Amino acid sequence: MAGFSGITAGYLILSDRPCLVETGTSTSAPVVRDALHDLGVGPDDLATVVVTHIHLDHAGGVGDIARFFPSAEVVVHEKGARHLADPTRLMASARMVWGDRLDTLFGELSPTEASRIRALGDTGAIDLGNGRTLSSHYSPGHAKHHVGLIDSGTGDLYVGDAAGVYLPQTGDLRPATPPPDFDLDTALNSIALFQDLGPERLLFSHYGPVKEVQDTLDRSAEELRIWVDLTRQAKSEGMDLDHAIAMVRDRTRERYTALSADDETAEQFELLSGAPSNVAGILHWLDRVSP
Ligand SMILES: [Zn+2]
Repeated sequence: MAGFSGITAGYLILSDRPCLVETGTSTSAPVVRDALHDLGVGPDDLATVVVTHIHLDHAGGVGDIARFFPSAEVVVHEKGARHLADPTRLMASARMVWGDRLDTLFGELSPTEASRIRALGDTGAIDLGNGRTLSSHYSPGHAKHHVGLIDSGTGDLYVGDAAGVYLPQTGDLRPATPPPDFDLDTALNSIALFQDLGPERLLFSHYGPVKEVQDTLDRSAEELRIWVDLTRQAKSEGMDLDHAIAMVRDRTRERYTALSADDETAEQFELLSGAPSNVAGILHWLDRVSP
């Protein structure tokens, strides 16, 4: 993504009915296709493509991957399904947020025929073959169309962005609270739900597997509370957005090794869970609940 490798993950479950979890961006789709080919998954071999949510770093490549793998069913939460069939509105709002950077960061989400899309409710199941199932659990907070997915064969839980952004280079974890959907209580409930599922590992979309499940999910919740507390304080002091961002960035800086590591690692954090996006998302929520 955006010229970085190791920043946005897609996971291939190489079961009897192979399943791709997250496509990554549209610009990454040819890389994903070639990687699947190298793993022995040809055009008609992929049974399912599922995305945790429809943000472009996770689902931007769905239309391309659906075209490359014409037998695959595309699975997404019901609140995201229509945007995969007709991405016009999603792309227009992404263009407003990102401007010209959209093309280099994400590329264009292309539409998928509605007949190939299966919409998930609060829970759902994807057949991985041979009695193995990938179960979906609605987990809003980061986005209103977010699901977590747990594999009955391994106990791996695909957490999308609902547990924040993890950087394997440093072990840092930072919340991902963008506008317009972020909601603290909903996000904390989703983390609690993940704890209740008792996973063996957490598979972050950004980035990679983590075995320390309990500590990591505790940290996810703690990070949310800290960012919300600081943003609430900035709001109560009457700061505008720019000052609030600067204050929260400054007061959280020492929590993250990444920010004092090399520039490229720090830049990844800013791209994936940037202080401007996080603080704007929290303020947007605060304005809704306590204007
Ligand atoms: Zn993401």
